[in-house]
Amino acid sequence: MAQEILQVTPLPTFMMQMLQQGDYVVHDHTHIKDPGALSKVTALVGTGASKVDKKLLMMLPNVKLIAICGVGYDGVDMAAVKEKKIVVTHTPGVLTDDVADLAFGLVLSIGRRIPQADKFVRNGDWVDDAFMLTHKVSGARLGLVGMGRIGRAIAKRASAFDMPIAYASRTPKADLPYRFYDNVPALAAEVDYLVVAVPGSDDTHHLIDTEVLMALGQKGYLINMARGSVVNQPALVQALKDKVIAGAALDVFWDEPMVDPELRRLANVVLTPHIASATVETRHAMAALTMQNLQAFYDKAVLPTPVPECQ
Ligand code: NAP
Repeated sequence: MAQEILQVTPLPTFMMQMLQQGDYVVHDHTHIKDPGALSKVTALVGTGASKVDKKLLMMLPNVKLIAICGVGYDGVDMAAVKEKKIVVTHTPGVLTDDVADLAFGLVLSIGRRIPQADKFVRNGDWVDDAFMLTHKVSGARLGLVGMGRIGRAIAKRASAFDMPIAYASRTPKADLPYRFYDNVPALAAEVDYLVVAVPGSDDTHHLIDTEVLMALGQKGYLINMARGSVVNQPALVQALKDKVIAGAALDVFWDEPMVDPELRRLANVVLTPHIASATVETRHAMAALTMQNLQAFYDKAVLPTPVPECQ
């Protein structure tokens, strides 16, 4: 019998094909007002942008799985999930390299001003002038906020650039040689590039605030790969305008996909549209792992990658 699922975000075409081949009936938001259809839904599927709150779950009495095609699941109301005895899965690991690659691309982009240099050539400005001098990345000090899968992969790349590495996380990592800080302002004060790679949560909300930005200082760069909620964005915009920090490279935003026009106008930023895991290879791997989680759930087998709270 075909299983009925509800997609809570748009899904890539290749994933829709995988679902159709797997004989799933896929409902979307247009069915949200049809209680007949909703009562047949037993699983939700969506990307890391999924918003699943208590109100939605109350409309879906038979949902027992939320399969997130992404590692972050901060849009899922975990208290409501626990109350309804629903299991949540995600796709850790398969996207780590891509996210670390983009993080490092952003470190190079903001330090060496690669997008601005590209624009300089395209505009024909080179004819009249030489491009500004930028800042050396090799050997500069790198700070990581979060030393999980992605933090470790970024550190590995930074090591190849001879960058001294330090980090802040909830707990020190005994297997790593890098310097540990138990608070983010102290870490920020000691580094040139501060890269954020923590989950979005109540605990990490506005972890990067004015105090951190002041500690990072006039020569420091902020790179956010995590979630928009982790950075106090108005405080960041002010700090960039006042040159409290040298610049920022951001893949995630509080107000994505709109993005504050003031931020978009600034010259000392590099902005990417939440694309850290967006390669053909990785998005296929994420979709395949999501399908494995769905299949295991309906087969009553062990779920490959439940989120930590559901393990
Ligand atoms: P992970 O392996 O679970 O690592 C998370 C790290 O964050 C851990 O080191 C953890 O510390 C630390 N942390 C958690 N809460 C903290 C707090 N309050 N203060 C300081 N550190 C804290 O996760 P991951 O796979 O590396 O992914 C990290 C996040 O990256 C995801 O949750 C997602 O939001 C984001 N992400 C973004 C994109 C994108 O497209 N831009 C793509 C993928 C992932 P402990 O080790 O001490 O517990």
